[in-house]
Amino acid sequence: MREKIINISLANPRGFCAGVERAILIVEEALKKYGAPIYVRNEVVHNSYVINNLKQKGAIFVNNIEKIPPGSHIIFSAHGVSKAIRVSADKFNLIPIDATCPLVTKVHNEVHRLHSDNYHIVMIGHKGHPEVEGTMGQIEKNSPMASIHLIESIDDVKNLPIISTEKVSYVSQTTLSVDDTSKIIDALKLKFPDIKEPKSSDICYATQNRQDAVKAMLAHQDLIFVVGSINSSNSNRLAEIANQHKVKAILIDDMSLFDPSILNNKKNIGITAGASAPEILVQQLISEIKKFSNIHLSEINGIEENVIFKLPVI
Ligand code: SF4
Repeated sequence: MREKIINISLANPRGFCAGVERAILIVEEALKKYGAPIYVRNEVVHNSYVINNLKQKGAIFVNNIEKIPPGSHIIFSAHGVSKAIRVSADKFNLIPIDATCPLVTKVHNEVHRLHSDNYHIVMIGHKGHPEVEGTMGQIEKNSPMASIHLIESIDDVKNLPIISTEKVSYVSQTTLSVDDTSKIIDALKLKFPDIKEPKSSDICYATQNRQDAVKAMLAHQDLIFVVGSINSSNSNRLAEIANQHKVKAILIDDMSLFDPSILNNKKNIGITAGASAPEILVQQLISEIKKFSNIHLSEINGIEENVIFKLPVI
């Protein structure tokens, strides 16, 4: 295969967003200040390389905060947490450090406002995702008008138990497909013509930009690699976009699993990375490809991101 040249195009922007960088820094700063171990509820961001790295530095990731020794620090992940988790942390005498992405907090604040204005809230998102659990959990289940309903598809719109004359609003998970979500929103508007919309999209800038960057390079690629973990919502959406446009996409986060046979008959390959995937993994993937073929590498121009989120007091 050596005489062959593969053209590799790198999507821009790709990889870490400001919320992920901030969350990782929060764990590292907490480790520096308080020493190991530092407890983190769930994966602070959905990337196995990042998680293993933080584990080696002394972070312990737990699902159940009841098992954490009282008096310990507990970091809430970038996906945010429900009110009940905050109450539990308090009950178990834990000291919280909040790594919730400010753009997720913005959605939480929307939910609080809508709930106090007596709106039924429709949440567009993926069942079981920690961000969805955290956002829906902003409303206490036994509060007088706890009306928040998760929908995942257009089909779910017709089953919503809300009368069309009632006050209705919607919010969404920050890492959804922009195109699929806009179709669901159209269906919501058809059923609830007066539905209250968020002032600006809840889908975050990083999700939007990475999806636009993949779309911009699709036309010329035989294959797209999406560097990202299987549980990363925004990475999965990037692969879906390629597949929807009939370009094969492979989600990869462990380069030891790289299968060179995938390069057969491929001349043009695109690489992108989800918002929680570090650039080192992109470079490892390029090195793997180089073992089996000569390459020509080019960066595709894309929107420049300069978003930075301040760290909380740690
Ligand atoms: S993907 Fe968006 S919402 Fe999620 S952490 Fe990054 S900036 Fe925040």
